Amino acid sequence: MVSQGLSKGSSTVRALILGGTSDANRLADAAARLGFAAIYSYGGRTRAPAAQVLPTRIGGFGGVRGLSCYIRQQRITHVVDATHPFAAEISRNAVAACAATATALIALERAPWMKAPSDNWIEVADVAAAAAALPEPSARVFLAIGRQHLAPFLARPQHAYTLRYVDPPEGSLPLPNAGIIVSRGPFTLAGDLDLMRSRGIEWIVARNAGGTGARAKIDAARELGLPVVMIARPELPERRRAESVEEVLAWLGHDARLGA
Ligand code: NAP
Repeated sequence: MVSQGLSKGSSTVRALILGGTSDANRLADAAARLGFAAIYSYGGRTRAPAAQVLPTRIGGFGGVRGLSCYIRQQRITHVVDATHPFAAEISRNAVAACAATATALIALERAPWMKAPSDNWIEVADVAAAAAALPEPSARVFLAIGRQHLAPFLARPQHAYTLRYVDPPEGSLPLPNAGIIVSRGPFTLAGDLDLMRSRGIEWIVARNAGGTGARAKIDAARELGLPVVMIARPELPERRRAESVEEVLAWLGHDARLGA
């Protein structure tokens, strides 16, 4: 348990890490190792989230107001939004709550994947457009999106879907023709090539998450020449951003040193 802040001069860092991603976990490990006082927050989507060295809380704060109260109560000085690039609600709430409480905010945001000349990507704005972009004839589709986003694919029942989740689903899925793989990333190119071949996958639907943990399916698609329906990231308000754990640590240390 980390209980004391990184103290330089009169300033003490007490960070809130909005987590749930492998980047957030790496940041938490480093913060604990370096002795930053920090709290790790999970949204509570996964039944058995990875254990953290840092003190951890789980579940929503109750919107902007709840997050603002939490920041004040816990005397948080710095918020690091290290959530998934598609977790737009918590990211928007973090911007608003940090503005309301005059708390420093940085987003740890990995760069999106870039299309290579040999890639066959159909780039779309959202999940509904992704469902519409699938072909008319029946196809075997690897649907690499969260289970809460499946509804638009009900309009495309001719396809056989493969889904991959960290937890086995509770109850039946809304899609009639869907097979589920239960597995926790990071995934490898060899593993995802095997998945695509063994299931005869012809199309992939993915969100442009960026980073390495989920990119094996994109590399596998490239190698197999498969089309990828790539969903763009949601628009988020302007905020300070870092692409690496090291940048975030420097930001925390720098501010502590300057008392900012
Ligand atoms: P979201 O839609 O942005 O958040 C919905 C609500 O969940 C937030 O308003 C907040 O509730 C709570 N919440 C989310 N992350 C939290 C955190 N780290 N700590 C405390 N509360 C948190 O995000 P999401 O529901 O997690 O996911 C949205 C999409 O991103 C999904 O498609 C999901 O598959 C994908 N995704 C997210 C993560 C992640 O790190 N969160 C990881 C992998 C994939 P209150 O308003 O009550 O505070």
